[in-house]
Amino acid sequence: MASVRVQQLIKKYDQVVAVKGMDLSVEDGEFMVFLGPSGCGKTTTLRCIAGLELPDGGTIKIGEEEVTHKQPAERDIAFVFQSFSLYPHMTVRENLSFPLRAVKTAQSVIDERVMMAARMLHITDKLDRKPTQLSGGEQQRVTIGRAIVRRPQVFLMDEPLSALDAKLRTEMRAEIKKLQTDLGATTIYVTHDQLEAMSMGDRIAIMYGGLLQQAGTPMEVYDNPRNLFVAGFIGSPAMNFVPCTRSGDSLSLSPAEGAAAASLGLDSDGKGRFATTPTGDTSLVLGVRPEDVAFVEAGTPGSLPVRVEVVELLGSENIINVGLAGHIVKVRTTPTFRPTLGQTLHARINQSRSHLFNKQTELNINAER
Ligand code: ADP
Ligand code: MG
Repeated sequence: MASVRVQQLIKKYDQVVAVKGMDLSVEDGEFMVFLGPSGCGKTTTLRCIAGLELPDGGTIKIGEEEVTHKQPAERDIAFVFQSFSLYPHMTVRENLSFPLRAVKTAQSVIDERVMMAARMLHITDKLDRKPTQLSGGEQQRVTIGRAIVRRPQVFLMDEPLSALDAKLRTEMRAEIKKLQTDLGATTIYVTHDQLEAMSMGDRIAIMYGGLLQQAGTPMEVYDNPRNLFVAGFIGSPAMNFVPCTRSGDSLSLSPAEGAAAASLGLDSDGKGRFATTPTGDTSLVLGVRPEDVAFVEAGTPGSLPVRVEVVELLGSENIINVGLAGHIVKVRTTPTFRPTLGQTLHARINQSRSHLFNKQTELNINAER
């Protein structure tokens, strides 16, 4: 196994600059997820690491070796694509053997590695079938098996579960994670699905506009998002954002059109956390996750009156949408809490877990320091 280091990677397609100077390190044995919306440069970065695209700038190292301009075959990597790409006329066994036959491996080694991969992927009873006789999930297992048999230094996977239905995707998520742990294999896994990223990654690299926005463990990026993009992209439902300015020991929440302004007094948590926040004109954005708002008794210090606008009953939890200074704020509650529409409730924001962003720079004020 090996580490992967990408420095100042640039890739252009004619006018489009798909990757604009990406810096990334993946440690030996690490499961790294590239996460970001469609078009942000995930596939392009992965294809440069694989050697399927040649970069216009920057360097790529696998282990101690610089591979920036090397052929894919010289890189000791295995690529699992979104589509299953199996040979339809070959059996599962032949499909699994193919990458090893291609490099003239001894038959006994082929048999041993094919059996090992089949066991890990629970397809030992499917070895003599053709791909068309398999379900989508089984086909994708075979595709992953073809990557495993080669025992490469690095696995690269580009949205390998996106063609599967939701239930199977959730199952395979856990299987791939377990497989990677068992093999101890350095893996880069591309997805646009933040739940997939959170549940699988040792670390997540969040990309947007051809640039790395933040890399960190799932909890780091969830609890300390560096900027507004990361804050809004990670978490479901997304973090609530309310524009505001600071005046002394309170935040003046800027009202949406036609709504009344509101003022949120900073409690001792907020005063400590936002100690360096500029007062006065600087436009800020208050960021609060749905689980960091609680409904409390009227008159509780620090609570604000809010109006119930929409109630989403999700089975395991409810999402109550309330109006605050004309902005919709989503609040996560237990499934038994069912307020009526139009009702006034009192909401208290957990300031020790909230964020303030500079509207111009989009940076988290706490992360800026
Ligand atoms: P992602 O995988 O994150 O969805 P991609 O890396 O595929 O994003 O694409 C990044 C940008 O590069 C997009 O704007 C896309 O349209 C463009 N792009 C990707 N591949 C090509 C190509 N072969 N030719 C021209 N533009 C491309
Ligand atoms: Mg892609």
